[in-house]
Amino acid sequence: MGFEWIPLKNYKRHYICLKCQKGFKRASEEDRKHSKSKDLSNLMNEYYASGSQQDIVKFINASYQKMKVVCPNCRNFMLQVHYDFEVPSQRDNKSWKRLNRTMSSKTILNYEIYIQWHRLEIQKVVANSVEFKNLKQNLVKLEKMSTD
Ligand SMILES: [Zn+2]
Repeated sequence: MGFEWIPLKNYKRHYICLKCQKGFKRASEEDRKHSKSKDLSNLMNEYYASGSQQDIVKFINASYQKMKVVCPNCRNFMLQVHYDFEVPSQRDNKSWKRLNRTMSSKTILNYEIYIQWHRLEIQKVVANSVEFKNLKQNLVKLEKMSTD
């Protein structure tokens, strides 16, 4: 409903453009090529495999920037939404105004999924090991970002 299909591909993400008042499903060649490295747990594994010297928040932000998608109509950045997000009809100005207020002010980066990943990983490692402390430290950092 309300989504316009951008053809080509099979791996889709859902976006909305607040300016055009439209929803888009998108998956690009780019996405497919990098779909592995963009997968959450792969991204986190990549981070920890690299020795995790980099700040986790910066790392996630940098990866997120690379995933940003522009609207095919107006070239503005779109907001990624959950796949079952109900996109209002294009003429429903009231709903779009509300979305504008609630979504554009908020960071679109969802730290919650990274927090969840860390909570699960922590359970897998030996308590108080180096990995544990690393994970714990980053978890605290991410939780702070998410409550700000
Ligand atoms: Zn647009």
